[in-house]
Amino acid sequence: MAVNTQETFLYNQPPKNDFELKIWCAFPGIYNFGMSALGYMSIFKLLDLQKNYFIERIFVDTEVQNTKLQTKEVDIMCFSMSFELDFLNIFKIMEKFKIPLKAKDRNKNHPLIFVGGPVVSTNPEPFCEFFDIIMPGDGENIVEIMECIKKNKDLDKSELLKRLDELKCLYLPELTQYNPSTREVTQNGHKIEIKKNLSKLSNCLCTPILTEQSYFSNTYIIELVRGCPQKCGFCLASYLNLPVRFAEYEQIIENIDKGLQYTNKIAFLGALISSHPRFDDICRHVSKKIENGENIELSISSLRADSISPDVVKTLVSAGQKHSTIAIEAGSDRLRKVINKNLTHEQILQTVKIARENGLKGLKIYAMIGLPTETQKDIDEMIELAKTLKEQNKGFDFTFSFATFVPKAHTPFQFCQREDTKSLEKKYEYIKKQFHKLGIKARLSSVKWDYIQAIFSRGDRRLNEYAQKVYFEGGNIGAFKSIYKEMKNSNLLPDADYYALREIDFTENNPWDFIKTYTSKEELIKENKRLLG
Ligand code: SF4
Repeated sequence: MAVNTQETFLYNQPPKNDFELKIWCAFPGIYNFGMSALGYMSIFKLLDLQKNYFIERIFVDTEVQNTKLQTKEVDIMCFSMSFELDFLNIFKIMEKFKIPLKAKDRNKNHPLIFVGGPVVSTNPEPFCEFFDIIMPGDGENIVEIMECIKKNKDLDKSELLKRLDELKCLYLPELTQYNPSTREVTQNGHKIEIKKNLSKLSNCLCTPILTEQSYFSNTYIIELVRGCPQKCGFCLASYLNLPVRFAEYEQIIENIDKGLQYTNKIAFLGALISSHPRFDDICRHVSKKIENGENIELSISSLRADSISPDVVKTLVSAGQKHSTIAIEAGSDRLRKVINKNLTHEQILQTVKIARENGLKGLKIYAMIGLPTETQKDIDEMIELAKTLKEQNKGFDFTFSFATFVPKAHTPFQFCQREDTKSLEKKYEYIKKQFHKLGIKARLSSVKWDYIQAIFSRGDRRLNEYAQKVYFEGGNIGAFKSIYKEMKNSNLLPDADYYALREIDFTENNPWDFIKTYTSKEELIKENKRLLG
């Protein structure tokens, strides 16, 4: 696929000359998903603004014959990794461009492979052998790293890595070792510490290129909030992005107006956008424009379930939104308190009432099964809640969407046990039956895929070989299972439950402890004890 020519650039590309660095900016998905990924596109823009960088976008569906650069001409290939299973598409792209997957198998004819994004910002170990340079945290200072590479690119790789190491913001796996018995990552015999990069969010991120081919066709996306102040015990979107940063109101308004010069579709992005202190004012700005006759389509990923305002719903409805999303996470007030969601049954009923009375046609409700301390009573309360919602809101469209709890590194629940697959599947069966009886749609995640996600999210360096083998076996659930069994029988991996299911003692070292995020391990332990007793 050629990169689409019907793209509108919303920034001025500088005149390009004397290319000193040739970059492939790669996305582990197809073109139309990549063009909607604000983080990825913002990194592309930052690099494209450098006049002596030659840069091309690469997607899973990019054909080799459609790139201007040949693999051997590329200095650095950058990936973003948002989900554990993105590694399958990363390998697909690397294989297509004849780049060996493991860093140790690459030579001067191959680009350096760089990666950033949530997965490698929390636990890069299961994938660290595939990348030369890993940047944990926000990507806004990527140009500083590229400048260092540009200056030193003629050096031997080991020398170049040493120069990059001096920047003190990167994880360079080739310089390190992992000891599975102590679960420690060391460099020259010493434990390492890598501080996650943190940007000020001084420039509000907005879509840099509009295209109809994007998943959110011709939509101008604006990041309102990074992180979430709620700090639910399981939530990576919150803990990874602390401290919470809000884009400045004036900048948001300026960007809404700018976006509307090119398109009538605006979307707000953030883990919990309605937590922005001026969220109501921002919506009011849009609704005034609509009242003045502008045709605007506004979309908001999810609404706050504890303090929704009628005005916000009215704005959404007048801007064409028919459905929205709220996340209740658990079925009972008790369990929502345990996870720090602190949302009450009454607040949920009230939110739905406001949504319906002000014109929305339906809501998608997110919930999680298998959260720590969950009992059958919590599940039954969820079903009771669904029943009450249906009875109180005749004709309103509800869809419940369930996922199972996966303990994520760098959250207070990273130490918690995950429930076993059989027991979760049994709970899902029960929910499916009860929701069917109620006539309410229930979408359930795959417990087996969630289990695989759990292996990687608390995994270690031994999983690199596993990931590669799984990819070459086809990357399906069967491959994940059979390769694991094979490697475990050869004593190359511990039991899969060791990664995915077990409770981790507070005193244990974890393979991801060397990444220093805003919340220290001591604070995570303290919060875990506060929530779970
Ligand atoms: S409210 Fe949602 S986004 Fe915020 S911490 Fe809880 S689960 Fe995460």
